[in-house]
Amino acid sequence: MNRRSILSLFITCVALLSSLFAAPAYGCGCVGSPPGSCCWCANGVWVCQCPGDPGSCGTGWECIDGCCSWCNAWDTYTAIGSEGDIYIWPKPCRICEWVTFDNDITDIDHQEFGVFWGYPTYHSYPQDSLTYSWRTNPVTGRWLSQTNLATASWEAPPCIGTVQVYLDVDDVPAEATNPCPGYSDENRDDTGPVTFGDSMQVVLPSPCQAGEGHVYPHWSESIHDCVGVTNCGITSVGPVRWGDYEGHTYEAVYNNCAWEVVFHISSSIRVGICTDIFQDWDCSSPGVVTKDNYCDFVNFFRNIDPCSTGGTGTGCGPAAGGQVVSDVACVTIHEYTHYSEWRDFFYGVPDWLEANGYLDPIPIVCDDTDTTHCSTAALLFASRIEDDLGAYLGNKIADIGNDTSGEYRARLAAEPCFESVADDICLCAKNKGWSNEKPCNACPP
Ligand SMILES: [Zn+2]
Repeated sequence: MNRRSILSLFITCVALLSSLFAAPAYGCGCVGSPPGSCCWCANGVWVCQCPGDPGSCGTGWECIDGCCSWCNAWDTYTAIGSEGDIYIWPKPCRICEWVTFDNDITDIDHQEFGVFWGYPTYHSYPQDSLTYSWRTNPVTGRWLSQTNLATASWEAPPCIGTVQVYLDVDDVPAEATNPCPGYSDENRDDTGPVTFGDSMQVVLPSPCQAGEGHVYPHWSESIHDCVGVTNCGITSVGPVRWGDYEGHTYEAVYNNCAWEVVFHISSSIRVGICTDIFQDWDCSSPGVVTKDNYCDFVNFFRNIDPCSTGGTGTGCGPAAGGQVVSDVACVTIHEYTHYSEWRDFFYGVPDWLEANGYLDPIPIVCDDTDTTHCSTAALLFASRIEDDLGAYLGNKIADIGNDTSGEYRARLAAEPCFESVADDICLCAKNKGWSNEKPCNACPP
């Protein structure tokens, strides 16, 4: 029962009392005492409100002491659900947030025993007690209190979405005493339970966003300026940066009750063919290859087999007279072998991260506050990825520059090209007649 209802009933009673006290006074000239409390004297005759015949007062009324009396009547407007509702706070709520469910539902069924004139109208208040049962649809979240109390506490699930909150209310009817003679006591059991419902949204904490995780490799490449370089070509990798790319950091986005990582990684690479260092060999142009030294060069280019131990093995270096003769195409093959290895490796980083579980979603666990916000989840991803990825990239960079691995592969790739340069020198020497004057064992007869 709420205060407003009590006040309204009280005012109703006062109004009725006033009208009752304003009932006609007994007149003069009648003999004896009035036959009932609702009887009055009219022209020397006692007249009563009702004669006592059954039904003379209408359905639901009885004639008592000459008064039409209203017996066994229950208010029809105070059943469960006629007033009050459920309340949810906060609404909307964030994932894992604690929420209070409350209500102000009343059931103020009461009996209204009334006697017109003579007796005051009588209201009894055998207020029915209520039973409660809270539930949600879907069944989700976690109850922090009992669900059978008027107020309940609930922890929102780690998942966003719409949740319907329901409260089933039923009455335990109290018994009322009926003061009308011949009438038994009775109670009123409302049809129930009555279900109250409300819809609420479970949302992400600000500024978190829903999305799908992804790794974005950003590739940049440039021509090496070769300044200070003493080789015919140069490939340099780096810097490699991850996480903090153009203002981005590791970002965690919500997907299906978990966080996924949006991750940026960037690499720069510079490749240079340092033609300042060497003379590009060409038979048709005046060059440093002569009748006297051509065989040295042929031997040099035939002996860059990476399995051999002699020479620089790169096709770059003085073979005779301190002159450096090489070939742009062959040096390019060497350097772009490094380039391709790194490029393939770098673009494989997303797959490597995926295959090794680094991108596995982090489930949101309400008891673990590191997982209940995108900012802390992003830090978890960073700590999971950062060190291992750094080692993974560092190992590959070292491998590419290692004489017995990356360098070996680059030389091997360029080897046929340099063999072909040696063949060209032999052919040039033959055409110029050098081979007749100074035969070279490294050239075909
Ligand atoms: Zn190399």
